[in-house]
Amino acid sequence: MTKDKHFKEDEKFNFSCHEGLACFNTCCKDISIFLTPYDLLRLKNKLKITSQELLDKYTKVVNAGSRAFPMVIINMKEDDDKKCPFVTGQGCNVYLDRPWSCRMAPVDIKGEGSYGFCFESDYCHGLNEQQEWTVSDWAKNQGADIYQKMDEKFKEIPEKLQFTGFSSIDRHIKEMFFMACYNLDKFKKYIFNTSFLEKFAVPPATAEKIKNDEVELMKFGFRWLMNFDVRKSMEIRDELEEIS
Ligand code: SF4
Repeated sequence: MTKDKHFKEDEKFNFSCHEGLACFNTCCKDISIFLTPYDLLRLKNKLKITSQELLDKYTKVVNAGSRAFPMVIINMKEDDDKKCPFVTGQGCNVYLDRPWSCRMAPVDIKGEGSYGFCFESDYCHGLNEQQEWTVSDWAKNQGADIYQKMDEKFKEIPEKLQFTGFSSIDRHIKEMFFMACYNLDKFKKYIFNTSFLEKFAVPPATAEKIKNDEVELMKFGFRWLMNFDVRKSMEIRDELEEIS
């Protein structure tokens, strides 16, 4: 019944994943792995492809209804095992840039300050091992800190970015949200190949910074969405079509 267990950040849990466990290398299949914007940034650079190629080839977009923002998940393979497209006989092919939820597994977030496991211990034998962790030790050990910091900023957006009830405007808002968060290469083109800099009065020093640093570009996109000016953005909507 491990999946029903809930614990807090500073409580200890047991886990160790290593060769020799019967389940080793078998957990990356038939699961829903939601990707954060920062996950996508790391993956596209690891695979040396564009954001659009990553979205097209390895993910699918989940639209949770007209008044919800789209989300992106890894598209599991369509074979019997439904394996993650990045898993190989030797392990994860994108290990150093693996997504946040892969880093945190077997830990899963159950609510504000509450954690649990994504697997049962009879499936994930690592949960029966002796090594002890707290959630924060585990996150640090897995290099998840930067992912968490970026995700905290991202999660604030939906509360600030309100829909209007007008379908064409709301469609535009969703499109802007998706581009700035998940299609960073397109967002960069939108900023630098349209009248965006002028329209939104971006200071030259900021423009220079976001041109050369994708993490800064992403943070800029989050800030832009948090204070979204739908009218100005609609004014340059046609220019967006030209860069698509
Ligand atoms: S990205 Fe890597 S760690 Fe995550 S499910 Fe795929 S193979 Fe496993």
